[in-house]
Amino acid sequence: MAVGGVREVDGVSGQPGHEEPSLAAQWARVRGRLQSEVGEVEYRTWLRQMSLGGIDGDEVTMRLPTRFLRDWVRSHYGDRLSALWQAENRHVRRVDIRVGEGSPDPDPTPVSAPVPAAVPIPVAIPAEAAGALPGPDRSGEAALDPRFTFDSFVVGKPNEFAYACARRVAEQPNCPGFNPLFLYGGVGLGKTHLMHAVAWELGGHAAPRRARPASVAYMSAERFMYRFIAAIRSQATMEFKEQLRSVDVLMIDDLQFLIGKDATQEEFFHTFNALVDAGKQIVVSADKSPSDLSGLEDRVRTRLGCGMVADLHATTYELRISILEAKAARAGMAVPPKVVEFLAHKITSNVRELEGALNRLIAHANLFGRAITLETTQEVLHDILKAHDRRVTIEEIQKRVAEHWNIRLTDMSSPRRARAVARPRQVAMYLAKQLTSRSLPEIGRKFGNRDHTTVMHAVQRVGDLMARDAGFAEDVELLRRMLES
Ligand code: ADP
Ligand code: MG
Repeated sequence: MAVGGVREVDGVSGQPGHEEPSLAAQWARVRGRLQSEVGEVEYRTWLRQMSLGGIDGDEVTMRLPTRFLRDWVRSHYGDRLSALWQAENRHVRRVDIRVGEGSPDPDPTPVSAPVPAAVPIPVAIPAEAAGALPGPDRSGEAALDPRFTFDSFVVGKPNEFAYACARRVAEQPNCPGFNPLFLYGGVGLGKTHLMHAVAWELGGHAAPRRARPASVAYMSAERFMYRFIAAIRSQATMEFKEQLRSVDVLMIDDLQFLIGKDATQEEFFHTFNALVDAGKQIVVSADKSPSDLSGLEDRVRTRLGCGMVADLHATTYELRISILEAKAARAGMAVPPKVVEFLAHKITSNVRELEGALNRLIAHANLFGRAITLETTQEVLHDILKAHDRRVTIEEIQKRVAEHWNIRLTDMSSPRRARAVARPRQVAMYLAKQLTSRSLPEIGRKFGNRDHTTVMHAVQRVGDLMARDAGFAEDVELLRRMLES
């Protein structure tokens, strides 16, 4: 594997195969030197998770748990690491840094669990030793989700502007008018995805295309606060400040968490100003626009809003279809168009839920070796679908149905039995059963305190009629679609 930032240094050529005493002991010395050269804070931030892979001929392999860390260490410490290894062992000519886990680092300080390279879930770092020195957010960086890239982000009307802004910043940080970039939108609409995509592009796997990967600090606002407080406690606020101010790009996710945390907000504000003044890029996300983030200090809000503000809107039916298709294709799973449409209709809240539903379907299909059909979908997603049903109310159904057949709304609960009234009422009951999670007695109560057997009868009757009368079936389907949209 070609080594990005690690250049070969001409070393004394030794005789390969010459026996060296304990490689681990050599690594311990190399590590000790590196640690004293770069300082405690940098060491803990970037190098602590590095472990020894092994030696093969003249090449030593080092391991880091994520691509991001690997690229970072290669480009920032690769040369030094090579030189130190060569000073330690004259046979070594190359140092290869790879993603993976080696033998655990015998660092005496409690180390958070190493992050396996392929695990996508942001790692909750167990409380670092209370006195640990702060550093740029190692955990945040390790937590960049490899799936959250621009390639995997499905663009549609509701998110195209935010996407374009994120791309722009990833291509050219601190471009006029785009600093800070403020992304906002409801939960599960892709804010974190876009932020990670920017971070990957600037500092991660895509970065070797650049002359020098930017140093990117990505962290949640909570993490920022945690780190800040830890720094105060260990009297290391200077290091904390310096480190944050030394990055090229600072990204803070879910800024709303800073509301009400006055000291942290103050610190964020100063860091923010220092970075912007130094021509560094800031990217922030929140659940609301700067002007709606009440509780945030005015000066913070003003500064946040003075770059580019882009919102991620709620998904549309079309976007949900595209997302489902893209994700199914990625998973290599055939999902019938009917199922895709059904899900896009039913699960409208956000992309996270949509994705969760699809993943469950796929897992189920794989597990039982069954093809995905509309029936299995309804079965497997029973609980999710039920939760989403609550959106349509019985009142809405009654209103729509009454309008459709031109009867009075009060007839839905009146005792009148004339066919012109009774039939629409039955349809409304049928739709209430189909579209809501209400029980038969509950539905009966909403229709003038009718008995649950009356509702049951209506549901059967409408079903029968639909099977026999295509025109009637079409009417009912039309109503259903109107109510669902
Ligand atoms: P937020 O941070 O806004 O709450 P996330 O970025 O965590 O939301 O997105 C939730 C999930 O939905 C993630 O798995 C993400 O990959 C996915 N997602 C959101 N928007 C899109 C999109 N446009 N294309 C593909 N996946 C998306
Ligand atoms: Mg998020």
